[in-house]
Amino acid sequence: MEMKISDMMQGAKKVAIFGHVKPDGDCIGSTVGLYNYIVDNYPEVVVKVYLEKFADCFSIIHGVDKVEEYCQEDEEFDTVFVMDASTADRIGAGGLKMVEKCDRSFNIDHHVSNPGNICKVNYIVADASSAAEVLYYMLDADKVSKNCAEALYMGIVHDTGVFKFSATHKSTLLAAADMVDKGVDFPRIINDTYFSRTYKQMVVTGKVMMDAKVILDGKVIYGYVTREMMNEYGVTSLEMDGIIDAIREVEGTEVAIFMYALKGGYKVSLRSKYIVDVNKVAAEFGGGGHVRAAGCFGYGEPEKIVEKLAELIKEQL
Ligand code: AMP
Ligand code: MN
Ligand code: MN
Repeated sequence: MEMKISDMMQGAKKVAIFGHVKPDGDCIGSTVGLYNYIVDNYPEVVVKVYLEKFADCFSIIHGVDKVEEYCQEDEEFDTVFVMDASTADRIGAGGLKMVEKCDRSFNIDHHVSNPGNICKVNYIVADASSAAEVLYYMLDADKVSKNCAEALYMGIVHDTGVFKFSATHKSTLLAAADMVDKGVDFPRIINDTYFSRTYKQMVVTGKVMMDAKVILDGKVIYGYVTREMMNEYGVTSLEMDGIIDAIREVEGTEVAIFMYALKGGYKVSLRSKYIVDVNKVAAEFGGGGHVRAAGCFGYGEPEKIVEKLAELIKEQL
């Protein structure tokens, strides 16, 4: 059943919007896009948007400066939105508490791994390109401003790898076409958020590329950044985006694995091209995501984590 934001906003007076931990372009785009839409069309409603820390490059998007980093437990809202998050433990910035407290909570998402039980109402379009696209089709197209469109366009761009991943459908391109029609500055959004990286990030990407290894007859490529490397190059976990996209370009590879040190273990990213369901692989590690892009967490030596992942990948090759 199709759902509309106008129905969800019925009677709303105080609204909070949340995304997932370690927000990415789609998470920022869908939350800020919804924020802009509510500001534009519901002037009488108080609306807040909360996200964990993210890279500075996103600040070119209108409304990103309104994002607050944490929602205190004693806040009260009558309506709560959770965007692009697939499980309760992935809701960021104090949002889980608000979901638990609020009678009207809405999860808008596109992860196949989403069990559909985070909020009171869960609207999940599992094959959609992005939460931003799901949201776009829930809005009244005439009421989408250039500011709102800008954020949503960014969400789509990031989750489709600039319209190249298989979840890019006709509906995705039509949504993007509408946004271009609204006047969004797409070269700027693509260059300055998706392809932008800090100098140190570029250097560490080069290091990972140099050290990357191929296994399983060249079908799998992997690389990682240890805590020592992060210290040596002076990079933070906010500067790990895009590294996996660099290594996955190697000819003949089906799966790319990228890991970086995080909280006593490794944050693992998985990408596949045509065959392997990486969501299945990530699920074995307690993670999830999509068929062609998923994530999880691993403990122990990086080479050991790769060994375990490779066993699971091999079953599918
Ligand atoms: P990443 O590799 O972190 O860029 O994540 C790829 C996709 O998988 C994104 O859509 C994430 O939202 C999702 N994802 C990453 N980590 C997890 C996790 N631990 N549990 C569920 N979904 C995840
Ligand atoms: Mn996301
Ligand atoms: Mn997404």
